Amino acid sequence: MAPCRGTTSIARYGERVTSESDRDLLLGHTAELAAAAWDVRERSRVIGRTKVGCAALTSTGTTWVGCNVEHAFRSHDIHAEVNAIGNMVAGGHQDLVCLMVVADRDRFTPCGSCLDWIFEFGGEECVVLVQRQVGGDISTYRAGELMPFYPR
Ligand SMILES: [Zn+2]
Repeated sequence: MAPCRGTTSIARYGERVTSESDRDLLLGHTAELAAAAWDVRERSRVIGRTKVGCAALTSTGTTWVGCNVEHAFRSHDIHAEVNAIGNMVAGGHQDLVCLMVVADRDRFTPCGSCLDWIFEFGGEECVVLVQRQVGGDISTYRAGELMPFYPR
C-alpha cells in the first residue's frame, strides 16, 4: 500500500510556523513539494483524462499527499486536494500552510469545492502552488486571490 505521507525533508522543520519568514523558509522547499505531488499523481485513479497530485504542507513542516480518485458516479470523485487534506487530518494535523497541486494541463487552479476545503484549514493566506509540467514554472497564489470574495 502506498503511503499517504510524503517523505520530503521539509519535515525536519519541527517548529511551528509563527512568522512570514518562517513561512518563507518552508516554502523554500517547493521542489520537494512538487516531487511529492508528481509522485502521488502517478497513483491517481482516473476515468476522465486528468491525473492530479497534491502535497499539503502543515505549519509544523509535515507533508501529506493525495491524488484524484474518480468514481463511475462522477459526483463521488475525490479531488487530489481534498484527498491530501483528508490525509493531513487523519494524520493529526489541521493547520494547513501550503498546497502544491500538479497536473499535466495548460490551465487549472483548484476548483471551488477544493478551495472551500483550503479555506477551512488554511484560510485566505494559505499558499497555493500550481505546476503544470514536471520541472516547469510554479505559479504562486494565496487562496484569497483565487476566491477574493470568499465569505468570512
Ligand atoms: Zn477540486
